[in-house]
Amino acid sequence: MATKRDYYEILGVSREASDAEIKKSYRRLARSHHPDANPGDHEAEDRFKELTEAYEVLSNPEARRAYDTYGHQVPRGAGAAGYPGGGDPFGGFQDIFEAFFGDRSFGGSFFGASTAQGPSRGSDAEVDVEVSLREAAFGADREVNVQVVRNCGVCDGVGGTESHVCPTCSGAGSVRTVRESILGQMVTTQACSTCGGRGRVIDVVCDNCRGSGKISEVEARRLRVPEGIESGMRLRISGGGHAGDPGAAPGDLYVRINVKEDQELMRDGEDLIHRMRISFVDAALGAEVDVPTLEGPKQVRVDAGTQPGATLTLRGDGMPRLRRRGRGDLKVLVDVMVPTRLTAEQRELLERFESTSGEETYNGGGGSFFDRLRGVFR
Ligand SMILES: [Zn+2]
Ligand SMILES: [Zn+2]
Repeated sequence: MATKRDYYEILGVSREASDAEIKKSYRRLARSHHPDANPGDHEAEDRFKELTEAYEVLSNPEARRAYDTYGHQVPRGAGAAGYPGGGDPFGGFQDIFEAFFGDRSFGGSFFGASTAQGPSRGSDAEVDVEVSLREAAFGADREVNVQVVRNCGVCDGVGGTESHVCPTCSGAGSVRTVRESILGQMVTTQACSTCGGRGRVIDVVCDNCRGSGKISEVEARRLRVPEGIESGMRLRISGGGHAGDPGAAPGDLYVRINVKEDQELMRDGEDLIHRMRISFVDAALGAEVDVPTLEGPKQVRVDAGTQPGATLTLRGDGMPRLRRRGRGDLKVLVDVMVPTRLTAEQRELLERFESTSGEETYNGGGGSFFDRLRGVFR
């Protein structure tokens, strides 16, 4: 266990402090260090826990006496009896934490407004949609089937065909309790246990939903896949999720987009990449070749002397940009195919070709082949 600070020091009071002084100091410090007042600040949270622990011990006369005598090393047995939670001096810490602040939210008159727990919102639904690269590029209208929980149409989500207003909560679905605590009045709001938060008590259970008030159904939904969308992106359809309690909003529907891999075009952000294989003869002599694009094949000129690994850039033939104007580029990576099976005649032709060629055949007269190779890797 890490070295624990002195409880009096934590609360900023003297060892002779009265109960009222301890209480006053705790209230003041707890207010400024409460986690809800310092969201995400773990130091404040630790400090708040430390404060509450110190207060728990010093506000209990027996526990305070034991602490004054033994300090933090309270022995099990006699001396520890005064601590709430028996032998463990800090076992009751969580209880006091929750008693004061009720599930970490402030109670009415102590710090401010209470957190209302009315009918709860429906949960979110999720569905996957697979689109082709072309659909991702230009957008598409798709119909998707979504399994969602809806309020039963027969009983309007109540769960019964005959029901009466809940006498406990008068139809509100939640109940407020006001309690006196050492820190003042505490107000908590909880779902009504009589009606389970529905606000109505059921007399005749609905057959359609067997009393749950909800039915699960498959809903067909048309949606627009926006142009330029990428795999893994999610579209949110507000209110398209599962039904909530009667009177509460439904959840949202998230549509996760999965873009199918294309056989010819690989996506690289807003650019597209196509690997093109041409014969070594076409690479040497130059050729007109067909390059697949999103709009269909496009004829492109490959220059004579094109090297393996060369890149041809087709400006503006890439992916449309999501929520921006313009398009990326289509980059064509050139692969040069070398023959793997030659007939006797072809072999002879190549041998004749080879016998007539020298270094200048490959370097085009400007620098040696190795100089140019160095240029590629520089
Ligand atoms: Zn029903
Ligand atoms: Zn009720």
